[in-house]
Amino acid sequence: FPPARIRNFCIIAHVDHGKTTLSDRLLQATKTIPERQMQDQLLDSMDLERERGITIKAHPVTMRYEAEDGESYQLNLIDTPGHVDFSYEVSRSLSACEGALLVIDAAQGVQAQTVANVHLATRQNLHLIPVINKIDLPTANPAAVKRQLEEVLAIPGEEAVLASAKEGIGIAEILEAVVRRIPPPQPFPDGIIRALVFDSVFDPYRGVVLYVRVRSGELARGQKILLMATQSVYEIKEVGVFNPKMAPQERLEAGATGYVIANMKSPLEVKIGDTLTSAHHPASEPLARFQEARPMVFSGIYPLNPADFEKLKTALSKLQINDPAIVFTQESSAALGSGLRCGFLGLLHMEIVQERLRREHEVEILATYPSVVYQVHLTNGKLLEVDNPLRMPDPSMIESIAEPTVRAFLLIPTERIGEILQLVLEKRGICESTESAGENRVMLRCRIPLSEILVDFNDRLKSLTRGYGSMDYEPAPYQTEDLIKLDILVNGEPVEAFSCIVARSRAESRGRAILSKLRELIPRHLFKIALQAAVGSKILAREDIGSVGKNVTAKCYGGDITRKRKLLEKQKEGKKRMKTFGRVDIPQEAFLQILKTE
Ligand code: GDP
Repeated sequence: FPPARIRNFCIIAHVDHGKTTLSDRLLQATKTIPERQMQDQLLDSMDLERERGITIKAHPVTMRYEAEDGESYQLNLIDTPGHVDFSYEVSRSLSACEGALLVIDAAQGVQAQTVANVHLATRQNLHLIPVINKIDLPTANPAAVKRQLEEVLAIPGEEAVLASAKEGIGIAEILEAVVRRIPPPQPFPDGIIRALVFDSVFDPYRGVVLYVRVRSGELARGQKILLMATQSVYEIKEVGVFNPKMAPQERLEAGATGYVIANMKSPLEVKIGDTLTSAHHPASEPLARFQEARPMVFSGIYPLNPADFEKLKTALSKLQINDPAIVFTQESSAALGSGLRCGFLGLLHMEIVQERLRREHEVEILATYPSVVYQVHLTNGKLLEVDNPLRMPDPSMIESIAEPTVRAFLLIPTERIGEILQLVLEKRGICESTESAGENRVMLRCRIPLSEILVDFNDRLKSLTRGYGSMDYEPAPYQTEDLIKLDILVNGEPVEAFSCIVARSRAESRGRAILSKLRELIPRHLFKIALQAAVGSKILAREDIGSVGKNVTAKCYGGDITRKRKLLEKQKEGKKRMKTFGRVDIPQEAFLQILKTE
C-alpha cells in the first residue's frame, strides 16, 4: 500500500463508552475476521483488564477496506490503554497515529477521561472524529452530547457520527470518515529508516516483539538495525502485520504499522518510545525525544510467608517481562523480612500488579502503604529523592520537602459543587478554575498533591456525586509542603508497613482515622492491645483493643459439634492470613484496608 492509501488511527474513550465493541464491529465490517470466529472483546487479552474494563496493553490491528471511492485502503487500528496511569503509553500509541475516533456514550456524555484524552490527542496534532455511540439507548441524548462537544472540547457538534456499536448502526459511516477525514501518513522523503517503537510484548516462543510505526524507509528481514536510546544493534529476523494475528510480510514500508522480531533476549532491552533506525545509515535525530516512563508510586511487597521470597521475586520478574513499567529492588525490613520495593505508574497499576501476583502466581503478599517520590532538600545543600517513609532522614537534617502534584479535571453535577470543593480542600488541593460543561454540569480544574489522589479520592468523588462525577489527572510540578512521617505503633512497636508521610496539619486526624480502622480490623487477643499514632517520640492518638477470654467456642452453647468445629476451622483459616508483630496478629486485610481510610 502506498502511504496515500494508509490510515493510522486509534480509538479514545472513557471506560465503558464502547471502545471494545466498536473495535470489534470495525474488524467485522472489514471482514478482518470471519463472523463465526468473532469473539467478544477480541482486542483485550488479559482477564484482569477485561474485568476492570480497561486496556493495559496496546495491540494494533491491520484492516483492509474498500472505500466508496472504489479504492482499497489499509487501516491500522492502534489500541490505546484507557487509563491515566498509563498516560505515557497512551501518548506513545497516539504518536503512532494521524487521527483518532473519539467515542462518547450518548447517554453519559463527555466524561473527565474524555477530556484528558482529547488533551493528549490534540497535543499530538491528531485529527479527531467524534462518535456518539449507544444511540439505541432510550436515554440517549445525542443533541446534548453535541452541545458538550462544543462547550467542553471546542469540537464542532456537526462533525459527530451517530452510532450504535451494539446494533451495528453508523459503522460504514465511521469507516468512510476514517478514510476521508484522517490524513495519510507523510514519510520523510530521504528514505532513511526511522520507525517508532510504540510498544513491545514478550512471546515465550518468539522472544521480544516490537510494535512499530514506520515513518520512513523500509524494514525487512536480515537488516541490521540500531535502537537509538540504548545504542544497541540487532538483526531483523521477521517483520509483519497484525490481521489480527501476527502475519509475516516481506517488508514493512513507510507509513505502515506492524511488528519486528530481532535477536533481542530480554524485553528490558527495549525502551518504549525509542526510534529504530538502520545500523549502517542511521538517522541523525530520533523521531521523538525519548523519555523513560517514570514510576510515580512506590510500595514494599513482602511475602506473607518469608519462605516464599524467591517465589515472589520470580513471579514479579515474570510480570515485568510483559510490563517493563514495573521496577523493583530488593529491600529488607526488621519486621517483615526480605521483600521488594516496587515502583508503579499509579495506584491502579499497583493494584493490578498486586492482584496478578496473588491470582496468577499464587503468592500471598503484604504490601506496605504506597508512597510517592518526595524531593528532600537537606541542610547540607544536597537533594535526596525518597520513595519510602522509612528512608526519610532525621528532621534535623531536612531543609524542606517537596511533593509531586497533579492537575486534576473533575466533571461533576453542578448541584454537588459545594461538597466537591470541600473534598478538594480536605485533600489539600486548590481549585484553579470552573467551567460550565453543558446542562447541569461543571468542570473543575484543580491542583492536588498526588499522594492525596492516590488513596480514596476517586471513591469519594463517586459517592458524593452518586456515580455521576468523573475525574482524570495529569502530572504537575512539585510543590513544597510541611510534611512529616507518621508512625503507627502496636503495643509500643512501630509497624513499618503502616508508616506514611503526611502534612503536619493533617497528622493527628490521619492518625486517628488509621487507629479506628485498625481497631475494627485487628481481632481481640488474650491480652489488651494498645494502638498509637506518633510523630517522632510524640504520641498523637491512642486506641485500645480489649482482651478476650480463652474459649472461642464458648458462644456455641454446648450441643452442635459441627458448628464448633467450623468455628475452630474458621479461626485457623483466619490465622493463616495473619502477620505477627511482637505478639499481635494483624490480618492481611488490615494492610489493604488501611489504604482506604479517609
Ligand atoms: P469500553 O470499556 O469502552 O471498551 O466499552 P465496551 O465496548 O466494553 O462496552 C461497554 C458496555 O457498553 C458493554 O456492556 C457493551 O455491550 C455496551 N455497549 C457498547 N456499545 C453499545 C451500543 O451501541 N449500545 C448499547 N446499548 N450498548 C453498548
